[in-house]
Amino acid sequence: MEKFIFVTGGVVSSLGKGIASASIGKLLESRGLRTAIIKCDPYINVDPGTMNPFQHGEVYVTDDGAEADLDLGHYERFTDAFINKDSNITTGKIYYEVITKERRGDYLGKTVQIIPHVTDEIKRRLRKVAQERVVDVTIVEIGGTIGDIESMPFLEAIRQLRWELGEQYALNVHVTLLPYIKSAGEHKTKPTQHSVGRLREIGIAPDILLCRTEKHITKEQRDKISLFCNVDRESVVEAIDVKHIYEVPLLFKKGGVDDLVLKKLNIKREDGDLREWRNMLNRLKKSQKEVKICVVGKYIALPDAYKSIYEALVHGGIANSAKVNIVKVESEDLEKGKSDRLLKGAHGILIPGGFGDRGIEGKIKAVQYARQKKIPFLGICLGMQVATIEFARNVCRLKDANSTEFIKNTKNPIISLLEEQEKIVNLGGSMRLGAYPCHLQKRSLSYKAYKKEDISERHRHRYEFNNKYKKIFEKNGMIFSGVNNDQDLVEIVELKTHPWFVACQFHPEFKSKPDKVHPLFKSFIAAALEQKS
Ligand code: GLN
Repeated sequence: MEKFIFVTGGVVSSLGKGIASASIGKLLESRGLRTAIIKCDPYINVDPGTMNPFQHGEVYVTDDGAEADLDLGHYERFTDAFINKDSNITTGKIYYEVITKERRGDYLGKTVQIIPHVTDEIKRRLRKVAQERVVDVTIVEIGGTIGDIESMPFLEAIRQLRWELGEQYALNVHVTLLPYIKSAGEHKTKPTQHSVGRLREIGIAPDILLCRTEKHITKEQRDKISLFCNVDRESVVEAIDVKHIYEVPLLFKKGGVDDLVLKKLNIKREDGDLREWRNMLNRLKKSQKEVKICVVGKYIALPDAYKSIYEALVHGGIANSAKVNIVKVESEDLEKGKSDRLLKGAHGILIPGGFGDRGIEGKIKAVQYARQKKIPFLGICLGMQVATIEFARNVCRLKDANSTEFIKNTKNPIISLLEEQEKIVNLGGSMRLGAYPCHLQKRSLSYKAYKKEDISERHRHRYEFNNKYKKIFEKNGMIFSGVNNDQDLVEIVELKTHPWFVACQFHPEFKSKPDKVHPLFKSFIAAALEQKS
């Protein structure tokens, strides 16, 4: 029968439940267990695809084309867990299904209610993932904080599931906060007691507490938490702040989390080996070289908006034993003519994906700066689109080059919609999404990075490079080094007379892991190091 670990969070949000879930997954994998990880998001949106980055942060994309919560990115970076479109459940998805069934008459005249119909649908989806795949343990992270009205049906569903499956088949992990009060010189356990109290009111008793804290907790505090929260001493785990998120699995290992989980779920496995992960961390911590990479975007004030890109840059650093100093540049600021000052000293420039015309001209200026000053450049999705617009305007002399996303009737639509996208009415889930194949030209920087001709990468965009302009671009020195032959679409462009200029229509950042660094990020950082020296 399926085994589950339910991860909930208390006291405040942003305690790192996603990283905690991913780290538990990593530890279980090290013990030879196959895992799946699911994120439950209590909001009513069907998926985050239609949300503004200011609301949600990055939209993560899976191979099978789901637009999903960014926690799935943590899961994939830390583990080889099974992740697909079923790995992110939202209230929107659940209600959509329940209402569709009601309209079809599936409920045979019954009154449709949150309990049992909504909770049954949640349980069905959780069990479906666990049953359809060959996994030993399914980790389920419940978004939000205990006490939120929105998350109640999810909590009720996991309560029922544990009751139905039995104790050795499901366990509850609660991530909580122990605030340190400076004036009192001690940690406060009361918020944790309250949070666990609320959980117990709804019938959920935590088996393991992961206590986020700034400073080490004392034996007395551990005893107190244990006694008042009904959790045995050894299951009160100190999760102290660490410098790098990739240290968390090792921290949990030290706290004995994998042993606790295995014991409580009655699973017997040899001790695990985290040697490679440890080596990766050492490379990260001990890197002596440093490069400066400017990321030019319009959501730079938000740490989560380009989450996977920032992580992939760190990974690029790990692969080159270098620390990547990420400088975030607001693209609109470049429009005020400050390129030289804002991009000064950059060893590499990266332009991430995006939507809408705000800041576009600033991004085009950043491309021009990188191209003319021969600074390594990586353009991603919108970053590729602006790279071609810049090239059209300033090299091919097509002055009014633009994307029809920004100027509908532009005279030179370098980037435009495919016919199938023109007819679309619903914005949700209707972009070119997920993994598509791409063929690489042998004599290219991309081939040099990937070391193979056929690759597969994830997409999330509506607009495409307009093939009508291919010839004039080639004549002027642009190389179309990656194409999707089935759909005749441009996937990667490069520049003949530039040390490292690669721009891709797909999102390589979604497939980079700290211990399996994406080839483009590895070679981008290598080029930046070269630029520096
Ligand atoms: N807005 C562009 C498009 O829809 C780019 C999308 C992106 O960068 N993810 O094609």
